[in-house]
Amino acid sequence: MSDALKSTVQQAFDEPACATNRAKSAAERKKGCSKPLTPGAAAGGCAFDGAKITLQPIVDVAHLVHAPLACEGNGWDNRGSASSGSMLYKTGFTTDMSELDIVMGKGESKLYAAIREIVEKHRPPAVFVYATCVTAMIGDDIEAVCKAATEAFGTPAIPVNVPGYAGSKNLGCKLAGEMMFRHVIGTVEPERTTEYDINLIGDYNLSGELWQVKPLLDRLGIRILGSLAADARYKQVAVMHRARVSMLVCSHALIGLARKLEETYGIPFFEGSFYGISDTSESLRTMCRMLVERGAAPDLIDRCEALIAEEEARVRADLEPYRARVAGKRVLLYTGGHKSWSVVSALQELGVEVVGTSVRKATDNDKARVVEIMGTDTHMFDNMSPREMYATLRASGADILMSGARSQFVALKARVPWIDVNQEKHEPYAGYMGMLDLVRAIGRSVNNPMWADVRSPAPWDEPRPFAGIRPAPRGTCPVSGLTNDPRDFEDC
Ligand code: SF4
Repeated sequence: MSDALKSTVQQAFDEPACATNRAKSAAERKKGCSKPLTPGAAAGGCAFDGAKITLQPIVDVAHLVHAPLACEGNGWDNRGSASSGSMLYKTGFTTDMSELDIVMGKGESKLYAAIREIVEKHRPPAVFVYATCVTAMIGDDIEAVCKAATEAFGTPAIPVNVPGYAGSKNLGCKLAGEMMFRHVIGTVEPERTTEYDINLIGDYNLSGELWQVKPLLDRLGIRILGSLAADARYKQVAVMHRARVSMLVCSHALIGLARKLEETYGIPFFEGSFYGISDTSESLRTMCRMLVERGAAPDLIDRCEALIAEEEARVRADLEPYRARVAGKRVLLYTGGHKSWSVVSALQELGVEVVGTSVRKATDNDKARVVEIMGTDTHMFDNMSPREMYATLRASGADILMSGARSQFVALKARVPWIDVNQEKHEPYAGYMGMLDLVRAIGRSVNNPMWADVRSPAPWDEPRPFAGIRPAPRGTCPVSGLTNDPRDFEDC
């Protein structure tokens, strides 16, 4: 690893805005907060993967992966981030480095040519160039190539120097924020600014979740000036330095970026979530209060309270018909972060019993909220192997598993329905209307009549009713040579 990259990684680990990091000793802080990768266990994704999933939702940018083909193939579009316009982000661009390119040292010239081809054919506002293990190890200087290409073609080529071997996916997410801070944020001035401009950081518009929340902001006159990276355009990242307030949405990975925006440009930030009714209301309240503190008209707070009262009343009335379908059902929740508790509180409001919730990637504050909501920490667990998850599903009598896609087969083996609540999901569950969608999904899954069939014994496992006298076998079997003489069956 180059000295520059080592120093960037070290800085990312030493995050003063992170409460967990602050509580560590100096020696522990130096070790970093992500666990070292186990060779062969790449299922969690590498640092490049983390950087790519953080930035790929910037929809009008061409994302060019400087690597042999597989790096792009592994990470391409594995999150369901939606766009309201450009679809360029869905096109996979790669330099497709071959062994010959590597041996002959053609990486940099190939990269330069690829940037030129993209600029000429697609005219994007920017090209993001991702380093990967192979191209970083052969010493390709993507920063120099990006600089030369930017000067030659007049389109910003932004180096994202986060090769896979730098560390975990989570580290890659952090470093992606750092790359934006170094190379993009502050490079463009917005045409106009208002006292109602915010940044959303750490939201990715998964399956269109932003569109369940944006109408609420529109009604309050709040504008999403900057975004990293929900339905974002390049310019929205470049102007993030002019927002009044930043909201860090369910993401600790980008807390360093939020802090730097505060320290450098004086933009205060808060951590919030749009999962669950009470969390959505609390996030709106905090956002409006902070905007007023930064110059918005004080009536914003009253308008916000009126909107919350109206929306909460509406969603509670809409949820009422579904209460009978989900009340008393038992859920095992295997997610992490804010969702460890925000989904729990939303489910409990509907009379759903949460038999356990994982606190992976959750902060100490998140864990304290779980204990507060559930009244005990006995149902709180960290990582769970598939075998343990299966045993917990069976022992707890869970009616449904809510988790990411990797656990779906455990649920099927345990013969319980499964709902995807992680990044690859196809249904949005954010804001007030998202809670209604989530409850509908639970009701649909647990009440599906298919489960009665799935849980009943297979036809071949059922004892066969005696259907009369079978004729005794006669003669000699042409394959085994056995006769109907009982002595032939003594060893069977
Ligand atoms: S960047 Fe490295 S670890 Fe990540 S996919 Fe490519 S080769 Fe694998």
